[in-house]
Amino acid sequence: MTRHCTSCGKPFEPRPQTPNQTFCSLPDCQRARKRQWQRAKFQSDPDYRINQRAAQQAWAQRNQDYWRNYREARPECAQRNREQQRSRDRGPNVDLAKMDVCDLPTGLYRITQYPASPRENGDSWVVEITPVCVTCPCKMDVSREDLIDTSAIRP
Ligand SMILES: [Zn+2]
Repeated sequence: MTRHCTSCGKPFEPRPQTPNQTFCSLPDCQRARKRQWQRAKFQSDPDYRINQRAAQQAWAQRNQDYWRNYREARPECAQRNREQQRSRDRGPNVDLAKMDVCDLPTGLYRITQYPASPRENGDSWVVEITPVCVTCPCKMDVSREDLIDTSAIRP
């Protein structure tokens, strides 16, 4: 029996193992399903809330340590960043459109989906952008595989 995906609205055939499937198999829709699940779990399960907060704090701590160690181990990168910051401070005549991501000023950024998906409620993420040396092997384990939905964490 054909259904319509809760996320993208397109028709799909539920798999026989999951007759109650409400999201199609597109990666975006599966991510939406995961977020919805996390949100519901967050509201209904105090243990899950506590675990998620603890996991997030532990991750933030690891991340902070990582960047501190990273910068200490690479004074030349920190020096370069400071020089870039100084040259940016001198004037606003930076053509942002021509900027490579690697030339973005270090700092916190809010990432919002554009164009906004009509079925998402304007979710956005705050991320820190810091230049890295791509060849550095230790940067591989910094990012989390699993997504924590921060909008669900704020009550
Ligand atoms: Zn879909």
